[in-house]
This record gives sequence, structure tokens and C-alpha cells, in this order.
Amino acid sequence: MGLLSGFRNPHNLPVKTCAHCERPFCWRRKWARSWNEVKYCSKACSQQAARKPPANLCAAGSVEDEF
Ligand SMILES: [Zn+2]
Repeated sequence: MGLLSGFRNPHNLPVKTCAHCERPFCWRRKWARSWNEVKYCSKACSQQAARKPPANLCAAGSVEDEF
């Protein structure tokens, strides 16, 4: 059944896939004004994504010089 197997959406709300945990999540009232900009299913995911960019984002190029 692919990515959405086991995901319930009885109200047929718009669905997106979280850019961090890659789990599907559906529209919430709190996102009514910003749905187009929502990328993550939760605040935790957005914070973790900000802290740890995906490995394929060329992390080797940015050397941190604070030890
Ligand atoms: Zn997520």
C-alpha cells in the first residue's frame, strides 16, 4: 500500500509528508493560514531538522571552527 498504509484520514483532509521524519500528516486547524509553508509534522521535527540538516546537504563543505 506504499507510504500511506496505515495512515487514517477519515475527513479527507489535505496530507503532506514531513520533511524530517517522512511520515504523512494531515491538515490541522492551526495551519489554516500557513499550510503551504508547513514542512514538518511537528515542532520537534522542525527543530531537529534545523539542527541536523540532511546528510546529502554537503555537510563536509561547512567546517565549524568552534571547538
Ligand atoms: Zn515529522
